[in-house]
Amino acid sequence: MSLVTGLRCRECGKMYPVSPRVVCDCLAPLEAAYDVDGWRKALSREVIARRAPTLWRYREMLPLDHEPVTSLNVGFTPLVKAQRLAAALGCKSLWIKNDAVNCPTLSFKDRVVAVAINKAKEFGMETIACASTGNLANAVAAHAAAAGLEAYVFIPDDLEEAKIYGSAVYGAHLVRIRGNYDAVNRLCTQIAGEYGWGFVNVNLRAFYCEGSKTLGFEVAEQLGWRIPPVVVVPIASGSLITRIGKAFSELAEAGLLEPTPFKLIGAQATGCSPISVAVKQGGTAIEPQRPSTIARSLAIGNPADGYYAAKAILDSGGTAGDVSDEEIREGMKLLAETEGIFGETAAGVTIAVARKLLREGKMNPDEETVLCVTGNGLKTLDALVGHLDIGVTIRPRLEEFEAQVLRTAGSPAIAAN
Ligand SMILES: *Cc1c(COP(=O)(O)O)cnc(C)c1O
Ligand SMILES: [Zn+2]
Repeated sequence: MSLVTGLRCRECGKMYPVSPRVVCDCLAPLEAAYDVDGWRKALSREVIARRAPTLWRYREMLPLDHEPVTSLNVGFTPLVKAQRLAAALGCKSLWIKNDAVNCPTLSFKDRVVAVAINKAKEFGMETIACASTGNLANAVAAHAAAAGLEAYVFIPDDLEEAKIYGSAVYGAHLVRIRGNYDAVNRLCTQIAGEYGWGFVNVNLRAFYCEGSKTLGFEVAEQLGWRIPPVVVVPIASGSLITRIGKAFSELAEAGLLEPTPFKLIGAQATGCSPISVAVKQGGTAIEPQRPSTIARSLAIGNPADGYYAAKAILDSGGTAGDVSDEEIREGMKLLAETEGIFGETAAGVTIAVARKLLREGKMNPDEETVLCVTGNGLKTLDALVGHLDIGVTIRPRLEEFEAQVLRTAGSPAIAAN
C-alpha cells in the first residue's frame, strides 16, 4: 500500500531510502516524500468518507509501508462551532478543533505517536522513547503499553504531577532530568545514536511530524472539504503549525479540495516565545530562550522546527503572538465558561493570543477562524490552583445554605421569602 517514495532533504532535495535517519548530508532535516499521482488514484472524498473515523482514514498520506497494526483508535476529534466564544471575542465565525479529547491520552500527541510507533514496528524496534514536555511522554507510555513495547520517557523533573503519573501508570521507565526540555532533548540525541531505540521525536522525527498533518486533514474534511482562512496554533517545537500548512497543500495536490489561501497564526507564552519574537520582527532567525511559563507543554526554548514554523507563518501572510501567565489562565477560563471545553495551559495560550491579536487589530474578526485546542485541562490543574473561586464549604444545613450561598450570591430567591 505504500505511497512513500523515500525521505527528502527539506533544503537540497536529496533523496534517501526510508530509514530512521534524521538529517541530510547537508545537515538539513529530512521529510517523507510521496507518490502524489498515487494519492490521486487511491483517494477520493467518498473513499475517505467510508472509512472509520480515525486518523488512519488518510493512511495513504502517512509514511507507513504497511497497514497500521497498533494505535488504531486515534484522531477524528470534534470540530466545534464556537458561537459563545465568538461573541465574547467579537468575531464572526469561530471553530474549536478539540484535541483535548483525543484518544487515548487527551492531547494532540496521540497523533504523532500513532504514526511513529507503527513506523518503529515496521523498523523492528522493540523500545520506543521520547524527549518530552509531558504530553508526548503520556502518549509514548500509553501507546507502547498497548503495543507491548518497552518505553523510556525523558522529561524535565519539574513537570505537572498529572503528566508524571500519567506516564508512570503505564509502566514506562521515567527518566526525570534536572534541567529544561532543551537539556533533555540534547541528552536524548546522544542516547538515540547509541542504542538503536526509536525516539519518536529524535530519530523517528521525520515520521512523527507527519502525524501532525492529520489535524489539518480532519479540519478540512470536517468543514466540508475546504481550507479555513485562518488557523491559530500553539507552538512548542514548531511541528504542528508547519504540518497543518503542509496538510492543506497536500489535500489540494491529492485533488481532494480547492487550494485556497490560508493564514497560520502562531501562539506562544511570552515566557517562551522564540518563534513569536522572530515572526513579530518579520524574520526566521530563532534566538533561543530559557523558558519560564506555566504553559510547560510549550516550553521549548530552542525549537527543532523553529525556522520552518516562522517561515510557514510569514509565507502564509499570518502572524504570531505571545501572552503572559495571567492571560493564559484567563484564556483557559474563557474557553471553559463559553464553550464547556476544559483545555490545558496550551489551550489558554491559543485563546488568549487570539483575543489579543483581535484586540490589536492583527486578526480580522470577519475571517472564519479555527482555534486548535491541543491538550486537556485536567492535566494542568496546578496552573489554576489558587486562581479560581471554588465556592464555600458549609455544614449540611438549610440555614447555612441560605446564609452563606444564597445571600452572598445575592439571589432573588432570598428576596422572595
Ligand atoms: C506538543 C504540543 C503542542 C505543539 O507542539 P509542536 O512541537 O509545536 O508540534 C501543542 N500543544 C500541546 C498541548 C502539546 O503538548
Ligand atoms: Zn540536504
